[in-house]
Amino acid sequence: MWTFIPTFLASSHSVFSHITDEVMSPRSRERLGKTMRKQRRKRAKKGEPQRITKAVTHIRLAETNPGKLAALDQLAHVFLQLVQQYVTLFCTDETPDAFHAPCFPTELSERWHRVVIQQAAGIATSWRTNRANTYQSYLDELAEYQELQANGEGENEAEEPTWREWDVPTLHETCIQGNCNVIKLEPSTDSCFDYWLRVSTLDKGHPLLVPVKLADYHIEALTDPKTKQCRPINSSVTLNKRDEAWWLTLSYDELVQVQTPPDAPVIGIDVGIANFITTSDGKQYGTFKGKLRERQKRDREKRRRKAKLRKCLEKKGVPKDKLPSTSSATGQRLTRHVSQEINRAVNLCFEEHEGCQFAYEQLSVASMRFKARSMNAYMRASNLGHIPDQIAWNATKRGVQATRVKSAYSSQECSVCHYVDRKNRPDQGTFLCVVCGHTTHADLNASMNIAARFHDEELRDCQSRAAIKALLLRRHEQWKQQCSLVVVQAPVQLGLWASSPASTDVG
Ligand SMILES: [Zn+2]
Repeated sequence: MWTFIPTFLASSHSVFSHITDEVMSPRSRERLGKTMRKQRRKRAKKGEPQRITKAVTHIRLAETNPGKLAALDQLAHVFLQLVQQYVTLFCTDETPDAFHAPCFPTELSERWHRVVIQQAAGIATSWRTNRANTYQSYLDELAEYQELQANGEGENEAEEPTWREWDVPTLHETCIQGNCNVIKLEPSTDSCFDYWLRVSTLDKGHPLLVPVKLADYHIEALTDPKTKQCRPINSSVTLNKRDEAWWLTLSYDELVQVQTPPDAPVIGIDVGIANFITTSDGKQYGTFKGKLRERQKRDREKRRRKAKLRKCLEKKGVPKDKLPSTSSATGQRLTRHVSQEINRAVNLCFEEHEGCQFAYEQLSVASMRFKARSMNAYMRASNLGHIPDQIAWNATKRGVQATRVKSAYSSQECSVCHYVDRKNRPDQGTFLCVVCGHTTHADLNASMNIAARFHDEELRDCQSRAAIKALLLRRHEQWKQQCSLVVVQAPVQLGLWASSPASTDVG
């Protein structure tokens, strides 16, 4: 099921998250609308500066009277209901359209109605994109599964991948992303407050004036260190209600220039569980082994015991609201901790490769799951889908070039002779090419393939897994021909190919 995360509410003008170091995270950018993705693709061009939006979060709207906040609550209630209606519409019957004609009755003003439609379109677009990506990964998995079955190579216990349709997102938390048509941020000159928020309400002609007081660290974040001036604040602001309190998020844009020269050395990054990151120069960062694994095991045990207890009590007729909760605080802490470990690993990797550019795979969580089928339970805890996003984000932030490459067969391809075979992986950690005998750590072999794909236009143009496989086999044939020229005096070695049962050698 897709859980809705309100911080991904997005319009094409200003998007931010209050999760990762107060800056818009790549996860939220991943969920953006079409327009934004087009811009991003354009931005990815070498040499052009990239605009990143940074958020200043946790500005509590405390300095105001309860009556004003009650009016805000009232507004939010109506607002959210309408957003939900459009989200459902855009996720089911219609394609998301930020400029869709209003089609539901509401007490909100026309301007607010516009804001609702924009916000809903952003959510629905993200949802549709994520769903489409996950569905594509499912199709890839299925293709791989069928390929294996057809070749008689499928393991007996391997299950056919299945698809479960996603639920339409349900809004749980109050989040209003307003533009200057409905919420205006005005500097305060004659009070002890920094700004006033002028919020138009259900009561036409009677806007709310909510005072905003910034903490020192907010002011610091909003001050440009070069000019010592306050940065231009984006006109869109976000209001969140959490724990009975209202919070304001402001944002500003910064331009970051990609500094990487086009001929900078390319580092391939492989993402995995045993090692979060393996680079093509043989370094490893972060792991889910050891302490994290132990914590995750303990957490799982705890949840199992709780579930058992619940069942037991249920049987005895204890009412539902008296049962112990199944949600696990330690589980949430663990997930947070894993995210921190991932961030640390990615940061360190970038620090230790200054002057390099990166190639990485965009693996969806679904395909990661496939990559480590036997480790599903700890997959969920390890949150690996987060890693490619962190790589992209770190690159943007630092002005470093990082390029996503196609992932098909990167773990099965031999980085020396390009031979593709599942049998090249005798176990999870080892790569051993059945044709040329090249052997190394499996993750290192994959990261070298990924690095090689950075400049590989031919592979980039492949439209399907089958096309990629065909290309790699052609390259393998070429390698064999080149090799036979070099080792023409060593027919024994040539014989190896013919005798290998897994070889595709036909002549
Ligand atoms: Zn090989």
